Amino acid sequence: MKAEIIAVGTELLLGQIVNTNAQFLSKELAAIGIDVYFQTVVGDNALRMKQSIETAQSRADIIIFSGGIGPTQDDITKDVVAELLGRELHIEQRSLDKIEQMFTSRGTLMTENNKRQATLIEGATPLTNETGLALGNAIFQDDHYYIILPGPPKELKPMFTNHAVPWLQQHALTGEMPIYSKMLKFAGIGESMLEDKLKDLISAQTDPTIAPYAGEGEVTVRISTKAGSESEAMVKLNELEVQIQQRLPEHLYASHDIPIEHVIVEMMADRELTLGAAESCTGGLLMELLTSIPGSGTMLRGGIVCYTNEMKEKLLNVPHAYLEGEDAPGAVSPEVAKVLAEQVRMITDADYGLAVTGVAGPGYSERKKVGLVYIGIAERGGETEIHELNLSGNRETIRIRSAKTLLYRLWR
Ligand code: ATP
Ligand code: MG
Repeated sequence: MKAEIIAVGTELLLGQIVNTNAQFLSKELAAIGIDVYFQTVVGDNALRMKQSIETAQSRADIIIFSGGIGPTQDDITKDVVAELLGRELHIEQRSLDKIEQMFTSRGTLMTENNKRQATLIEGATPLTNETGLALGNAIFQDDHYYIILPGPPKELKPMFTNHAVPWLQQHALTGEMPIYSKMLKFAGIGESMLEDKLKDLISAQTDPTIAPYAGEGEVTVRISTKAGSESEAMVKLNELEVQIQQRLPEHLYASHDIPIEHVIVEMMADRELTLGAAESCTGGLLMELLTSIPGSGTMLRGGIVCYTNEMKEKLLNVPHAYLEGEDAPGAVSPEVAKVLAEQVRMITDADYGLAVTGVAGPGYSERKKVGLVYIGIAERGGETEIHELNLSGNRETIRIRSAKTLLYRLWR
């Protein structure tokens, strides 16, 4: 089966938004064994959209649309597809009810154009929109499968995964063996380094396949295989996992899709260990990651955001001489990271004290370069570990990577 993605939107052509939907769809399609040969981008223009669809019909079995199914006049994807297939557009009642209910609950009047979001091409299967209003469509005609999805990624992703994929499996992929996947999670390593370590495995892959996805401060690798049964698939996937693990033994932290903070919370709660943290450049991000995990209440004692030098001195007893003066190492230094980690551990009376201090940018501070970060891990009755990080990226990336790397170091 060959697929083509048609991303609809003049904003894409103008470079105002990035076509992340095509990226998402391509990876997801590869994971279920569908080859994507072409990605097309076309503006909100009926004639050019029609041309794109005709081209796609000549070279793909499955045509997937993203965008242009909202309420406004420029949202014409369903109209164009319906016309090309020679079918009518109807209003799908359940979807309309949902839209009307939404307006009633907000206490606002529904304008007529909002009904357009509930349209279904005659004979199509409705694809539920779990996070928005515009109804998706899936339809088969003349050897082609068409899937119409909304533009906003937070709507497109769940619709594709939860509704379009099952429809494809039932209609387009019958007779093909089902695909089984496993998610491997890595931390403390970037996507390109990880790919490099797995280069030969990735280039030799046919089945199972290996697909890395870069996240913020962690990398996910999906391994997938076609198999007659789940147990057969698991044997193949586990064999590959062992091979991958041997290449990157210190980075693989989970064999299912969970963030590193989740692993830390579970690990510490299991061992009845507690944690406190002092954060400078991450400004509470570490606490935010940990407290978002249910169960963190038992292991997390508390945290201190000590952004200025004054607060580092006052709240965490960092010696003045470390922070200011000719020969002072400065706030972004291994010395200060060590004091912060040890002090916060004592103040919170926790088993571990974590600290992070660095230059998140964009401007430098203390004449130190952007991305220079020190992290510290103090342990009750043990040595304090300090690591220097040289991170790249913008302010947000540096902050999230600092927090994730600290958690990774603690996990190790
Ligand atoms: P809406 O109901 O919001 O109008 P729609 O299905 O009509 O949704 P568009 O109007 O094409 O979709 O796009 C709406 C928004 O979705 C865009 O402003 C953009 O933020 C996002 N979006 C659209 N297409 C893409 C894409 N290919 N990749 C990433 N984001 C996209
Ligand atoms: Mg729109």
